[in-house]
Amino acid sequence: QSIQAPRRIKALDQVVINKIAAGEIIVAPVHALKELIENAVDAGSTSLEIVVKDGGLKLLQITDNGHGINLEDMPILCERFTTSKLKSFEDLNAIGTYGFRGEALASISHIAHLTITTKTSDSSCAYRAVYSDGKLVPPKPGQSADPKPVAGRQGTQITVEDLFYNTPSRRRAFRSPGEEYSKILDVVGRYAVHCSGVAFSCKKFGDADSGICTTATASVIDRIRRIHGSSVANELLEFTTSSKHLGFEATGMISNANYHVKKTTLLLFINHRSVESSAIKKGLENVYATYLPKGGHPFIYLSLEIEPHRVDVNIHPTKREVNFLHEDEIVAKIVETVEEKLAAVDTSRSYTLTQT
Ligand code: ADP
Ligand code: MG
Repeated sequence: QSIQAPRRIKALDQVVINKIAAGEIIVAPVHALKELIENAVDAGSTSLEIVVKDGGLKLLQITDNGHGINLEDMPILCERFTTSKLKSFEDLNAIGTYGFRGEALASISHIAHLTITTKTSDSSCAYRAVYSDGKLVPPKPGQSADPKPVAGRQGTQITVEDLFYNTPSRRRAFRSPGEEYSKILDVVGRYAVHCSGVAFSCKKFGDADSGICTTATASVIDRIRRIHGSSVANELLEFTTSSKHLGFEATGMISNANYHVKKTTLLLFINHRSVESSAIKKGLENVYATYLPKGGHPFIYLSLEIEPHRVDVNIHPTKREVNFLHEDEIVAKIVETVEEKLAAVDTSRSYTLTQT
């Protein structure tokens, strides 16, 4: 058996490196959209309008009415690690905003055609710029790459076209635009429930009707009703719990024992980021198992605020998972509160409990 000589090791081309890095952050259109929603909310917007074509693969457009972007910052806006939200490594300990690494826009510019139109309150007009591979590029050959003055309202419009156009294997992996659109509606729906004071709309390009539409002044229950229907909105219990010692506060809405569906809906926010946690989900499902018929599952909206220095938001490229200190104790405290709430309304059950 002959042993082959090792192949030589070579540095990858920077363009390839950027594309790989971008593909780790943005696996599907919904991940790009989540970053754009978070940016718009960070910018103090009270209205977010989202338009989607072909499940976001052809077009993702998000228009906000936030503070906009300064013209002077537009040249470096889409470079990797440029941000207005983080200055030192220590700042990671006190992250108050969704974004923090200055990677989202850069990543999108490496794998899509990106156009940004933005107006600040002290500018007399809006500016439009086109980006590719982190840099300003001319909209058409022969034109200037400089941001172009245009008419526009205060705020920012981000247009992402032809996502994954330059990574054909990734692009081909998406079989159904409908599936991608439902993932998008799911994420928009989560933020639409959570972000009080912000109006959301999300629709397919060319459609008159919105898939999601909420107003800025709607209450949490009204938002849930709008997105998840009256059958659940009519059966909700509000709850809140906190612990100084564990450094957390939790508030939310949970369905009562009258309501059950085949699959759990858990809208979980940790420090205002939509995240997933199997520990929290399992704990809550266990409590409900004793209150719901076999195979029945609850609806839960849970907003958890944990002292920023106890949370590590930087463990996952897509920021979907978050680590925090005293996870077991915090989950136990939340589960206990939910249990009390359910027991309090389930009078027949509390009766039997006091009898035995
Ligand atoms: P990060 O959010 O981590 O800072 P991004 O790449 O998502 O990085 O955004 C880079 C910067 O662009 C932000 O720090 C912010 O200053 C600006 N920005 C992005 N989107 C918006 C927006 N919708 N409105 C105002 N500023 C924005
Ligand atoms: Mg961001």
